[in-house]
Amino acid sequence: MIPLSNYHSHCTFCDGRSTPEDFVRFAISKGFRAYGFSSHAPLPFETFWNMSKEDMPEYLQEIERLKHKYKDQIEIYVALEIDYLDETYNASLPYFRELPLDYRIGSIHFLPASLPLLEKNMVCIDGAFENYRLSLDQVYHGDIRKLVEHYFDTTLKMIEAGGIDIVGHIDKVYMHGEKCSGFSIDADWYQKPFDDCLHLIAEKGLMVEINTKNLRTKRQLFPNMAYISKLQKLHIPVMVNSDCHYPDLVNDGREEAFKLLLQTGFETTRELVNGLWEDIPIQR
Ligand SMILES: [Zn+2]
Ligand SMILES: [Zn+2]
Repeated sequence: MIPLSNYHSHCTFCDGRSTPEDFVRFAISKGFRAYGFSSHAPLPFETFWNMSKEDMPEYLQEIERLKHKYKDQIEIYVALEIDYLDETYNASLPYFRELPLDYRIGSIHFLPASLPLLEKNMVCIDGAFENYRLSLDQVYHGDIRKLVEHYFDTTLKMIEAGGIDIVGHIDKVYMHGEKCSGFSIDADWYQKPFDDCLHLIAEKGLMVEINTKNLRTKRQLFPNMAYISKLQKLHIPVMVNSDCHYPDLVNDGREEAFKLLLQTGFETTRELVNGLWEDIPIQR
């Protein structure tokens, strides 16, 4: 028995492919105990995958409705996946702090290459590889080390800025990075800034998700499975999240991720139980 929960998910309020209620129904059918929505939070510019601020009241209302409707079958939580862009736009803004959310995930999808904060000035580390490669050439003159440095430097600033409970897909930069020449995940120039982020997370008492979105299809886990032991050594609390955009993927990769956690020496995952985070033993 593994705790069936997911705290990172998307729905039609951002780029998820189905309504929140569909995701809840799937989660119930798979026997989930807890399910959290974490729509991509509004940005200072519109993208195809972010929520707009105007939809926020309806989002909060709809998840609240589902909380009540299904309260005898599943615990439902409302959250956001909030981008850290720079010091002026991140989860520590009063706007995000004041929203009635159960928790906040901080993630990096964009690195600003220049100002103002517009999509055309962003290096997108998620999305299509072709765009990543183009930015690598144009912004970092083809030097993958520079891109990685920028990524972890921004991650460190996100952790420092606060306003978040969970760090989302902490090392997503390697997803496309490993396809670029000169990349080496075990090199000092990669591991040192990654370690710095983990140490700051431990110091701040934040959680890190084990993100299984690409596990089954691409054999990629975030954090990379070779390094989850680093989190264990620092006693960083973790939970397994599928980051699903399709209802049938709510449970994707969970079983394998739990096996890996057990093999690594993790004995608990951090879970929301009646609205409070608790360390729940992983049962073999
Ligand atoms: Zn994300
Ligand atoms: Zn996500």
